Amino acid sequence: MPPGPSDRVVITGAAGFIGSHLSEALLDRGHTVIGIDNLLTGDRKNVEHLQQRDFHLIQQDVARYIDVDGPVDRVLHWASPASPADYLAYPIQTLKAGALGTHNALGLARAKRATFVLASTSEVYGDPAEHPQPETYWGHVNPIGPRGVYDEAKRFAEAMTTAYHRHHGLQTRIVRIFNTYGPRMRLDDGRAIPNFIVQALQGEDITIYGDGEQTRSFCYISDLVEGIIRLMHADTAEPVNIGNPNEMSIVQVARRIVDATGSRSRVVHEPLPADDPKVRRPDITRARKLLGWEPRVSLETGLRATIDDVRRRLG
Ligand code: UDP
Repeated sequence: MPPGPSDRVVITGAAGFIGSHLSEALLDRGHTVIGIDNLLTGDRKNVEHLQQRDFHLIQQDVARYIDVDGPVDRVLHWASPASPADYLAYPIQTLKAGALGTHNALGLARAKRATFVLASTSEVYGDPAEHPQPETYWGHVNPIGPRGVYDEAKRFAEAMTTAYHRHHGLQTRIVRIFNTYGPRMRLDDGRAIPNFIVQALQGEDITIYGDGEQTRSFCYISDLVEGIIRLMHADTAEPVNIGNPNEMSIVQVARRIVDATGSRSRVVHEPLPADDPKVRRPDITRARKLLGWEPRVSLETGLRATIDDVRRRLG
């Protein structure tokens, strides 16, 4: 469905890694984008190149009442610290973005009769006892562990979103985002891929937490954005996993990055953080069926673009 002339989208967290790519893709498809971001973990630089286009950034914390002038057709709630290091540093803000922020963003969507899209996460599955993870799996989360602030906020956000759908008849979508990487990730956000690339390019030790046999499945940002936009236009309030099922161990990822950068860095092992999931891989049957979506970008291609971006930013 191509957007009408007045299709205005509000994106909270628009200055973040995913938020900024999503803003750009929606502008490319003819939408007007109003970004809301308190710049806690987002960065104005991520959206500087959009300021010449139909894009407006409001600096605000979504945990406070959100007021937007004029019609709004869609509200995409992306605001939250999202890397383990960030939600450890900002545990209360993480809970507030997922709980109060989701409530405020839902309230905005309801007042404007807009479609609401929630950025949820594979973290709702916790350290999963079912593998791979289909949307029907309820998860295995430690509510009082260090990751609990993010996992439980997002689980609450899914419950709140579904309540607005059932009780108020709001049009809602829930995307469960699995590990994603690409240009514009913060170099110091603490995640595996940016850490390893920075370490490899600077000849520092590659820090593997634990034995590195834990697995993840990494999706390139353009594939993720395509999946989100397809879901936004689909007609389902059920959660949908969007991620790349290409699962590998963290040691394998580190090796791929060392090879791709031609680095001479060596690997060192550091303690595994508490509750670090041992495995993670999306079952994307639902996305394939409902959205006709699956990832297209290989790890090789995605890593090349990400390494080039990091190299440029390191100068
Ligand atoms: N990890 C690592 N070294 C690092 C950063 C992360 O070994 O420098 C591990 C981390 O313990 C986890 C995996 O890589 O098992 C993915 O971590 P990330 O922070 O990227 O995201 P997560 O999937 O845990 O949310």
